[in-house]
Amino acid sequence: MPAILIDGKSLAADVRASMKNRVEALAARGVRPGLAAILAGNDPASRVYVRNKARACEETGLRSETHEFPDDVAEAALRERVAQLNADPRVHGILVQLPLPRHLDSSRVLAWISPAKDVDGFHAENLGALVQGRPGFVPGTPAGVIRLLEHAGVALAGKNATIVGRSTIVGKPLALLLLQKDATVTICHSRTENLAAVTRQADVLIAAAGRAKLITGGMVKAGACVIDVGINRLPDGKLAGDVDFASVSAVASSITPVPGGVGPMTIAMLIVNTIRAAELSIA
Ligand code: NAP
Repeated sequence: MPAILIDGKSLAADVRASMKNRVEALAARGVRPGLAAILAGNDPASRVYVRNKARACEETGLRSETHEFPDDVAEAALRERVAQLNADPRVHGILVQLPLPRHLDSSRVLAWISPAKDVDGFHAENLGALVQGRPGFVPGTPAGVIRLLEHAGVALAGKNATIVGRSTIVGKPLALLLLQKDATVTICHSRTENLAAVTRQADVLIAAAGRAKLITGGMVKAGACVIDVGINRLPDGKLAGDVDFASVSAVASSITPVPGGVGPMTIAMLIVNTIRAAELSIA
């Protein structure tokens, strides 16, 4: 039986619709949640992501603004803008679109954002809160993966959850969230030996390596749930995930598509975080 498709696009629309009451409650108190995006350089994918985030803000009743800088932006100019946004009461969330131009150190730049406005959850204070199980802003992609799993009714407690990828924005925070759900978590990376033998043990397999079609049907346990975080541009211009959809969907019980899986959920969770930041600003 072919795998059930987990529809991230429709779940993301539901999540945004469920925010309506909270946006209205804020409006009644004279607050419109505002998200400021900083876009440095000319990476075409980053431009698309920032545009999609701005569109999702508008659709949900949030205010959005984009601050563009050239590829050779001076660190001081970026720092000054972040400071202005930290001080601006109309801005509740600030995101710095990654990757930054090569001369800038992203963890240095992210540290300038006020943790209370760090709606991407990449500031060390928010990542530290996640490690310690304290409240904070959780990065959108891992939070979106958890929402997709919950929506699909996938059991996590006691199950083997394996993540391929150990980045600070996806793999590591996702591992912590899965641990909170009592999964037995394995993290693979480029130095993992015999990747297929590890992934075949997974009841829930999450691919976040940034390698097109890395995960094939032979690497997946029969009946597993497979979540594809990867977004890769193929030479012909088409988008592909990290999962070979055709072979894996013949083995898995459920699977997310690319596009229309994790991507829309990442944006929906960013919107949720921005609304929460606005609520906390007047609490
Ligand atoms: P990243 O920082 O490049 O990290 C990739 C990770 O995958 C690294 O830990 C790397 O191992 C590992 N890896 C690479 N090749 C591998 C292989 N052949 N076997 C096993 N592990 C391998 O990437 P990222 O920022 O986490 O993003 C991962 C993917 O998700 C990308 O395609 C990105 O575009 C996508 N993404 C999607 C969303 C969304 O909203 N859907 C959001 C964020 C990212 P090492 O640590 O050993 O190098």
